[in-house]
Amino acid sequence: MAYMAHMAYGLTYFVADQVNSNSMCRDTTTYACRCQPGQLCWPTDDDWTTLNSTGEGNLLALKTLAYPCHSPDFNAAKCAHIQSNTHNASYRSLQPGAMQYENWGSEPTRAEQCYVETPRSVPCGQGRIPLLSAAVKTTQHIQAVVRFTAEHNVKLITRNTGHDFLGRSAAPSSLQIFTGNMRSITLRDNFVPAVPPGITTPPMGVRAVTIDAGVQLGDLYEYLRAKGAMVVGGFSMTVGMASGNIQGGGHSVMGWLYGMTSDNALDKQLPNSDLFFALRGGGGGTFRVVVRVSLNSYPDCPAIAVRTKYTLPASINRFWDGIETVHNHLLDLNDSGGTGYYLITPESPTSALLNSRPSPSLNFCTRFTRDHGIPFLPLAGRSKRRRV
Ligand SMILES: Cc1cc2nc3c(=O)[nH]c(=O)nc-3n(C[C@H](O)[C@H](O)[C@H](O)COP(=O)(O)OP(=O)(O)OC[C@H]3O[C@@H](n4cnc5c(N)ncnc54)[C@H](O)[C@@H]3O)c2cc1C
Repeated sequence: MAYMAHMAYGLTYFVADQVNSNSMCRDTTTYACRCQPGQLCWPTDDDWTTLNSTGEGNLLALKTLAYPCHSPDFNAAKCAHIQSNTHNASYRSLQPGAMQYENWGSEPTRAEQCYVETPRSVPCGQGRIPLLSAAVKTTQHIQAVVRFTAEHNVKLITRNTGHDFLGRSAAPSSLQIFTGNMRSITLRDNFVPAVPPGITTPPMGVRAVTIDAGVQLGDLYEYLRAKGAMVVGGFSMTVGMASGNIQGGGHSVMGWLYGMTSDNALDKQLPNSDLFFALRGGGGGTFRVVVRVSLNSYPDCPAIAVRTKYTLPASINRFWDGIETVHNHLLDLNDSGGTGYYLITPESPTSALLNSRPSPSLNFCTRFTRDHGIPFLPLAGRSKRRRV
């Protein structure tokens, strides 16, 4: 049983314990838990230079993305470029000085912010954007940064794409590990996962894909599609798969068939089972820096996306009758091999119209249903025997 658990959910990762003798400190106003710039404990220029050379010159001082849009650093050309890309998730994902949601770059307790939309005369503050970034490419680079932050008690932050909904890939006065350049993807037909000590029976080889920490979903899907394969992954093309997505569990349109993304992690090189469980739902950045992950892959399958728009006066309840009918059929759809997402949204909160937007909607894996002998039954004619 223990063997099965290990096999099912392992991650390849680098163990990176941080020294935290002040872990009970709760002073979030002065950030006294970690060494701050200006304090004696703060690394010297020589320390930073040494770290930079260990990382083959990958260290840079970070500014917030929008700083060229504000005095005294205003630069019209740079600012125009940033303004035209400010809502481009792909662009933002590769800017270590940006979060996907601008608000996570600001720090209200220090009254520091730097928005691209505010006037040039508004000063640009560093906010929660780390002071330095190490654009790592190897495990050794990551190890060097982790050891450095432990030695100097500097706050360590790992950032891949900056999608974190709670802003956890940024923190004031921190040193950032930026994994966006670690983009290797390899699909193997007969991948044999590593097993914990004491397991003598080698596991069966499976078709699996191994991805580095910086791989984004869109790149992974493109790579796999060319090989007729797919994985259980999320919706946004710019979310990082091995980083925050899988460590948060990872939900997917394929979830009903194949489980969560973390259920599909194969390779396990962890020192103990607590970490093994922690990394499949404990949240990105909570425990360790993940270097790469190997995941089950599945045969690619066709998907159906449907968008339906209803235009009805708000006073008429027939729309909700329709929604109820769809829900009455959901388990039947699952029984028929259907898996997917749906969204139901009003056109606007104040609109008298309702706009149903399934996206990408109920997604039938027809090849799966065929291969497994599951009859595909269209909606019409199914019984209303269950309510969801
Ligand atoms: C538009 C959008 C769509 C989304 N769609 C889906 C979806 O369909 N399915 C789904 O499950 N989730 C979805 N999410 C949530 C997404 O999976 C999480 O926000 C996830 O944490 C993002 O991970 P990231 O590495 O891309 O982002 P980041 O902000 O870079 O990192 C997120 C967290 O992981 C940590 N982290 C980053 N790299 C590493 C690493 N190598 N090792 C350890 N920790 C690391 C960071 O410190 C941070 O705490 C979506 C989010 C957005 C904004």
